[in-house]
Amino acid sequence: MRVVSAAEAALAEQNYVSPIDVLVGVGWLTPQALDVWRQGRAEDLEGLAQANLEKLSAAMVILDRWASDRGLHSSQTAYIARTRDRRQLRFSRSGDANVEAAYRTHWVSSELSEVERRRMEEKQNAAPDLVVIAALNDWRCTACSGTGELLIMESPGPVCLVCADLDHLVLLPAGDAALTRRAKKASGLSAVVVRFSRSRHHYERIGLLVEEAALDQAEQDCLADEEARGRRRQREEQRRIEQDLEFEAELAREVRRLFPGCPPQRAEAIAQHAGARRSGRIGRSAAGRALDPVAITLAVVASVRHVDTPYDALLMSGAARADARAQVAAQIETVLDSWRVAIVG
Ligand SMILES: [Zn+2]
Repeated sequence: MRVVSAAEAALAEQNYVSPIDVLVGVGWLTPQALDVWRQGRAEDLEGLAQANLEKLSAAMVILDRWASDRGLHSSQTAYIARTRDRRQLRFSRSGDANVEAAYRTHWVSSELSEVERRRMEEKQNAAPDLVVIAALNDWRCTACSGTGELLIMESPGPVCLVCADLDHLVLLPAGDAALTRRAKKASGLSAVVVRFSRSRHHYERIGLLVEEAALDQAEQDCLADEEARGRRRQREEQRRIEQDLEFEAELAREVRRLFPGCPPQRAEAIAQHAGARRSGRIGRSAAGRALDPVAITLAVVASVRHVDTPYDALLMSGAARADARAQVAAQIETVLDSWRVAIVG
């Protein structure tokens, strides 16, 4: 009966019920465990539940019968991991297709109109925000063996922001709702940054990673805001600390030598980003310091991928990194080819 009252409560509150609502409602699944699963850090959800498979499947049968009696509409919901590979999350130990489908079923109130129902389904099936985690312990990137303050979970493990193609984003600390909303809207690619609070036992949002240009734009719009102005000054100050102007100029010249057709402002932007001391690309690597053509070409490729192709939009819409990269590979080559020859005239 606890299953039925948990289902009734969820339906009253949000006009639909999911198996997850019921598991949380009856206390078999903690919000913490749910976070871990949504971040793609567990094999399956059943393994995190504080009830055995027998109890879980009995609850699913009760929910199913209750929903049919209530005349609710069933709707399949995609559960996408909040990770960079955007894989479908797995519920069951067995991975059985029927069991998975049962867990993905949301029961929607029959009082909603067709249009309201469709809008709700769209919202639930939208790709979730990417989530980046502020590391508390020592960790190693599973792709490059590097480390850093921020990581994102992928399979088979954590990767650094350089390997995840997110290192061009800047952190906007949480706290200014208007600025955050504007920056997110203006940014083609963004990711929520969370940190585990040991005292509160859950993940807390500490900010948003956005494109620097989007943050600039949002700050412009919020310039009346004293706090936004202060933060902007801080950020400019930080950039000056990280900047090595001489090295940047050298790097920009080298970009132009390798890619004579690359517009000068663009070469400077690439050099500024790649040459910053905090940058994992060139600024802190010995190969970059020696102006290794391979390292420089990789920095140019990364820039073209983000700026001249729909790569970032593909990631935001839920495409896996490998698929998105394959889709834009030819476009990147075309741009590089055009940059390899000097513009005449
Ligand atoms: Zn890495």
